[in-house]
Amino acid sequence: NEMTLHCNKFIQTFETVIKTPKKSKSDVFYTGVDLGTACIVLVVLGSDYQPVAGAYQYANVVRDGMVVDYVGAVDIVRELKEELEKKLGTTLVYAAASLPPGTDGLDGGAIKNVVQSAGFELTNVLDEPTAANQLLGLTDGAVVDIGGGTTGIAILENGKVVKVADEATGGTHLSLVIAGNYKFNFEQAEKYKRNVKHHDELLLVVKPVIQKISSIISNQVKGYKVNDIYLVGGTACLKGIETIIEKETGIKTIKPINPMFVTPIGIALSC
Ligand code: ATP
Repeated sequence: NEMTLHCNKFIQTFETVIKTPKKSKSDVFYTGVDLGTACIVLVVLGSDYQPVAGAYQYANVVRDGMVVDYVGAVDIVRELKEELEKKLGTTLVYAAASLPPGTDGLDGGAIKNVVQSAGFELTNVLDEPTAANQLLGLTDGAVVDIGGGTTGIAILENGKVVKVADEATGGTHLSLVIAGNYKFNFEQAEKYKRNVKHHDELLLVVKPVIQKISSIISNQVKGYKVNDIYLVGGTACLKGIETIIEKETGIKTIKPINPMFVTPIGIALSC
């Protein structure tokens, strides 16, 4: 549908500018900073809110929305910022960031401090599903964010988030099952899992974990009118995961071309 097309086109443009930043005459840039459990992503938009550059790095500085390596997190965000500034020939000033739902009181301050210590002026902090929906533009349905440590669910009705939940099953659990199955250590399993060439074979191995994620979704949406599920987050990159989730939940499941970039782009759009 039209929404998916718009979303996919935006993601494609972003993937292009990660490789080759776009020369821009903008006098102002907006940066989205996504501090994830597995990956830190920076998305830079020009004054017309179109992608001009981006960069990401795998890192273990955040766990389930909690900053566990503060200095490491600041260093990576600063390095990525400087790398992008060099490529664009400008200084990046404004940034937005996001928090997993329900962690604001807990650790929100740390994420804000990381972004500011890296040299940004923070203009906005929003929760992850709301950020994702800045790009998706859903009015009704569920945004399901399958990340590293957790699966986050946000239910929208008439354009408003009416429920958010976050439960502890995600890509880490897939990796643990893969490690056990192939006698890999965790890092080897992570690397093996991220290679799309292995996805057909892996889908069978991790199916029980995806069924568990599906039952989490089913329980959370119970009592709400949810006709569509929109999958985002790194773990949604697993080829075929949408088919299992759709079958198990009985709800139409839609996945953008690169679900990993939906939340980071949405954060930048909110800047
Ligand atoms: P959380 O939401 O739990 O804090 P996060 O925001 O870091 O985590 P994401 O970056 O959305 O989460 O997703 C990270 C997870 O996605 C990791 O488990 C990682 O292994 C997995 N992942 C990343 N790329 C792929 C891929 N191509 N195929 C399968 N899984 C992937």
